[in-house]
Amino acid sequence: MIQVQQVGSRIPATRASNRLEIVRITNIRLDNFRNYQTALMEPHSFGNIILGENAQGKSNLLEAIEFAGTGKAYRAAKDFELVRHGADNMRLEINFEAEGMPESICIALKSKTGALHANALTASLQRDIKVNGVKQSSTAALKRRLIVVSFKSQDLNIVRGGPAFRRDWIDVLLGNLRAATVGRLQQYQKIVAQRNRLLRTISESGRLTGSDREQLKTWDIQVAKSGSEIIKERLNLMSELIPLAETHHERLSGKREKLTSEYIFKSKSARDGSYNFDEDEDDSASLREMMKSFNIEDLKNAQTKDIAKIIYLMLKDIRGEEIARKQTLIGPHRDDIAFALDGKSAMNFGSQGQQRSLVLSLKLAELEAVRNALNEQPVLLLDDVLAELDLLRQDVLMEMVGSGMQTFVTTTHLSSFKPEWLADSQFFNVENGSLSAVREPIPR
Ligand code: ATP
Ligand code: MG
Repeated sequence: MIQVQQVGSRIPATRASNRLEIVRITNIRLDNFRNYQTALMEPHSFGNIILGENAQGKSNLLEAIEFAGTGKAYRAAKDFELVRHGADNMRLEINFEAEGMPESICIALKSKTGALHANALTASLQRDIKVNGVKQSSTAALKRRLIVVSFKSQDLNIVRGGPAFRRDWIDVLLGNLRAATVGRLQQYQKIVAQRNRLLRTISESGRLTGSDREQLKTWDIQVAKSGSEIIKERLNLMSELIPLAETHHERLSGKREKLTSEYIFKSKSARDGSYNFDEDEDDSASLREMMKSFNIEDLKNAQTKDIAKIIYLMLKDIRGEEIARKQTLIGPHRDDIAFALDGKSAMNFGSQGQQRSLVLSLKLAELEAVRNALNEQPVLLLDDVLAELDLLRQDVLMEMVGSGMQTFVTTTHLSSFKPEWLADSQFFNVENGSLSAVREPIPR
């Protein structure tokens, strides 16, 4: 039985208990967010079903919740995209309970210059973030407050899309689970950007001086050190996540398929794995073996310092190509994760149904990992995915949700929903940016 704690503060000591604390949104207000002029919502403590035709604002609502929870609006490349066309500011406020205590998150974007969309690309927007009424200097303050797990149709890209989708998926999850990772990832990105600048300068000057070599070496060490920490964190998370996903997938496939996953140095494949390590590097041969792939079962063998050494050696080896391409070609920003079903690449050989089950398994594993790490029952956002799942998959999802999570489910039609989703849920209609609670859903 899950209970909401009535008093207490959000300190680690509270999280040490085995009881899951529930995060529950009580109130949402949007002003000029996407296609909403003003939207007010008082969600149900558990089930919320948001109904509407295409392009009415369902995903926008979930995007607002996810933005408040993670500081990241997954569909917006630039902040101004979140501001309603024709407006020059936007504000969203979400009140919620976490561990029984009321909390609030407020994000406002204001144009410094006015006339936002007339000059959208150059308009500068000021971000104003408040947590519990206190102004914050960055979105990092939003982490681990309103804890959300989302599952949307675009998540199929984790299996079908390019490596960047998989890196983003694991890194965003890492950031949500371990606060320190956010800073680490940002620092790594800065290192790579500065190293790329140096590579560009060298490339454009047409020669490699002694001082360039020295400078590159310094950056190589930094890429290796910082990069290896990120890789190790990803590997650690995968070693927790993949066995969980395996169990879900086994069930979804009727015990027919075995899910496996590997961490891949993508950059290796560009050179057919034929690295030319300096012969005088003492342990390069064994490292070369190790770098081929990090099998989840062998994870414990890969220490951060080994990974750092591999990156360092690879960087040395690929230097000419890097200068020619003016890019850092080795490191976690180039890596990938492979998923296989019965040993066959899920990306290349998986059917639509197999890929869907795999993504659902990964998402369920993510949900469990969040619960385990934070000891909280997050808010679950299901954007357009439920109607796509057959009854078995809905059952498996329902089992996870059944333990008292607050859910927000968007859909254009309810016909394929299991009746359990509809029982005891609050329905909302969205029509052209206008959100209203409805007593009974209009049959679709
Ligand atoms: P679907 O069922 O197709 O997924 P949806 O209800 O989820 O539809 P949303 O993705 O929420 O639709 O988008 C609703 C509308 O919001 C779209 O028509 C889009 O053009 C519009 N929109 C997006 N950003 C803005 C903005 N900044 N200002 C005004 N309208 C916007
Ligand atoms: Mg949508």
